[in-house]
Amino acid sequence: MERKVEYIEICPECNSKSLTKDYERAEIVCNDCGLVIDEKIMDMGPEWRAFDYEQRVKRSRVGAPMTYTIHDKGLSTVIDWRDKDSYGKDIAPRSRAQIYRLRKWQQRIRVSNATERNLAFALTELDRVASRLTLPRNVRETAAVVYRKAVEKGLIRGRSIEGVAAASLYAACRKCKVPRTLDEIADSAKLNRKEIGRTYRFVSRELSISLKPTTPIDYVPRFGSELSLSGEVQSKAIEILGKAMSQELTSGRGPTGVSAAAIYIASVLLGERRTQREVADVAGVTEVTIRNRYKELAERLDIEITI
Ligand SMILES: [Zn+2]
Repeated sequence: MERKVEYIEICPECNSKSLTKDYERAEIVCNDCGLVIDEKIMDMGPEWRAFDYEQRVKRSRVGAPMTYTIHDKGLSTVIDWRDKDSYGKDIAPRSRAQIYRLRKWQQRIRVSNATERNLAFALTELDRVASRLTLPRNVRETAAVVYRKAVEKGLIRGRSIEGVAAASLYAACRKCKVPRTLDEIADSAKLNRKEIGRTYRFVSRELSISLKPTTPIDYVPRFGSELSLSGEVQSKAIEILGKAMSQELTSGRGPTGVSAAAIYIASVLLGERRTQREVADVAGVTEVTIRNRYKELAERLDIEITI
């Protein structure tokens, strides 16, 4: 397999330029959306080749955690693979053919049972997390389709069912244009954000799911409604973001922070003021982020607001 040398400077998910290179794990992580962008730090040029060889060897020896197991309870009577009967005598050729078919059949049942159990568990998990995030039906269904495809392609092996389910949900949210941040998914799934980010990246690559980066505009409807802001304020925020995007003021910035800043400005402009704190809480960013982004936007777009 040919390995492409990528020089990543920008997050493919959210366009953020704020990336952390994690030498310990040899991966690059986006600080804004949490995506684990690349696990091939070694290919990243001379700077990266300095990466400690011993560490690499140690890690590859440990390997990926194996959490997927085939539950086979209740089907413990496996037909013997040797062609002997229970007294150790040879089995006649005719019976042998029969036994062969039986064995095949038993194996098939075992595999499909395990797959079914896996799916049933994953779908329950998907529903649990989705309802915690109050996601609409179509998102859950899309997530289930993604998960099923991942199972069919054998992508679950070496990964946790919960992790792949959460990653499928993250992909589905984006596909259905109701984006949730990795933080939100991680909180609801009670999983590590990085694990989901890593799994999502892997699954979306393997299934060739290509999603456009989430833009700040994508977050306006949800943040707006969580802040009980009118449609006018939301439209105003979208208008501001449209201008900001066309002037490339948003690239390299985390989309949630920019979205929140625009919403804040719009709320002030139209007399439905929300505090920076309130907006920050809904968007899952800090007040400092809002302050920095809104100052940038106001200055570059010539918006006069009195705070
Ligand atoms: Zn990102």
